[in-house]
Amino acid sequence: LKTLRLILGDQLNHQHSWFKDDYEDITYVFMEIRQETDYVVHHIQKILGFFSAMRNFANYLKDRDHKVIYFKINDKNNRQKLDENIKNLISKEGFKKFEYQLPDEYRLDEQLKEICKELDIETEAFDSEHFLSERKELEKFYKGKKQLTMEYFYRHMRKKYGILMATDSDPEGGKWNFDKSNRKKWNGDPDIPHERGFRKDVSSILKELEKSGVKTMGSVSEKNFNWPTSREDSLSVLNYFCKNLLVHFGDYQDALHSDEAYLFHSRLSFSLNTKMLSPKEVIDSVIDYYYDHKDDIDISQVEGFVRQILGWREYMRGIYWKEMPGYKRSNKLRNQNDLPSFYWNADTKMNCLHLSIKNSLENAYAHHIQRLMITGNYALLSQTHPDEVDKWYLGIYIDAIEWVEITNTRGMSQFADGGIVATKPYVSSGNYINKMSNYCKDCHYSVNKKTGEKACPFNSLYWNFLDDNREKFKDNQRMNMMMSLLEKKDSKELEEIRTRAKEIINKPEDF
Ligand code: FAD
Ligand code: SF4
Repeated sequence: LKTLRLILGDQLNHQHSWFKDDYEDITYVFMEIRQETDYVVHHIQKILGFFSAMRNFANYLKDRDHKVIYFKINDKNNRQKLDENIKNLISKEGFKKFEYQLPDEYRLDEQLKEICKELDIETEAFDSEHFLSERKELEKFYKGKKQLTMEYFYRHMRKKYGILMATDSDPEGGKWNFDKSNRKKWNGDPDIPHERGFRKDVSSILKELEKSGVKTMGSVSEKNFNWPTSREDSLSVLNYFCKNLLVHFGDYQDALHSDEAYLFHSRLSFSLNTKMLSPKEVIDSVIDYYYDHKDDIDISQVEGFVRQILGWREYMRGIYWKEMPGYKRSNKLRNQNDLPSFYWNADTKMNCLHLSIKNSLENAYAHHIQRLMITGNYALLSQTHPDEVDKWYLGIYIDAIEWVEITNTRGMSQFADGGIVATKPYVSSGNYINKMSNYCKDCHYSVNKKTGEKACPFNSLYWNFLDDNREKFKDNQRMNMMMSLLEKKDSKELEEIRTRAKEIINKPEDF
């Protein structure tokens, strides 16, 4: 049967069983479309990354004699919408069957179901053969339980795949989780090997993008684009990580430093989320490397990494399919403020925010703790509407795809789901930021002051946030300690804190 198979921009899975099929009657289609470039303002590097990776994968298939139709963003016959391109192709080329892989985003899942309903030819959906759990596996796992925790799902996954297990039921190293040893501050030592990644010329795609009129944010150095955009690139980032960074990954997972945008982080999220790499091969490579270098690498470094991919990444996907579409509207704390304009230009005197946002605008990247404890923390403390926060996170990062962005942003970072992902809000005063980074020493503000002109804004915002949410947090046991410290504040100090916090919230651009 003459068949059209759709490949979405985040379905660049070289190992998919589709490509083992007899290909005589099969044509693959890729589309660079305005529907996808315009649903939010994306970082320029994100669009360049996706388009480059899609083109490379299409060429890979063509080199292996597969039939490929590729719509570039400025092609005249490109109708810029998934449904219109598909319907047009089917009627023009006479396809008798349409096939697609199950998308990771709810919006595309719905759209593709709708398209199939409207087509008068046979249609079929296939698994994307990427994740280690089924869409609904987490939902089944927690059926009937009140509180979800990542830890139990993670243990289930460890057992299911026999990863870092001493026996069928006991973890290697005697512990499931070495999180407590993953909390070191980085002070310039140990050295972080620097020669990383590629220097690619993306000037020609950049020109096409400029011509198309797609609105973007952030910057790019057109001759120095250094994200992996092919399977070879992705494997080389993975190798680099195993050889150079794994040894300290766990220790410095939560560290922040002004000179180091990436620290010991892997930068694998884009390769993973576009499926150029599978989570299983990433985990297997890391574990094989560890077993070959057991004298040099501690299990805590490896477990810390495995937990992110086998634990958090699969958990977030499970939450997404359990909670969507309602999740997208959740705002349990009823936050209503706008996101400050400095999120779009890094123009703030708060050094931690300035550096984290600058880094994001320049690299389409920030590591987890910058996302959670700097930009996310500030957005939550200043009681920003989660829609505004989501829009920013969904656009700015090269790895941002809704299933993993929204669960991290609305759930883990903004507590907008009321505690589905996180058992308490991830908020802190300047104290934590000072403990984990060198940001405060060069800051305009004084991290030890709570009130007064030079006081660190995070301090008053923190106590004001707790104060404003007394009712909502009163039954949350994990908030007990913080709430009882709040109770001990005298009314004069609390009044000063409230006044200062209101000034910051009302005019964030002045800070
Ligand atoms: P590493 O620190 O090297 O971790 C290795 C891998 O583990 C990552 O590549 C990623 O695949 C996985 N991982 C780690 N933490 C998480 C997590 N919390 N959830 C899911 N997977 C995880 N990750 C995205 O992939 N896309 C997003 O849009 C995204 N948005 C986020 C928004 C907020 C507010 C926060 C707090 C986190 C977000 N994350 C997101 C999770 C995490 O910050 C990134 O995966 C990570 O920073 C990517 O960099 P890395 O590859 O160097 O990660
Ligand atoms: Fe950030 Fe406050 Fe430290 Fe300045 S003093 S870097 S605002 S935490």
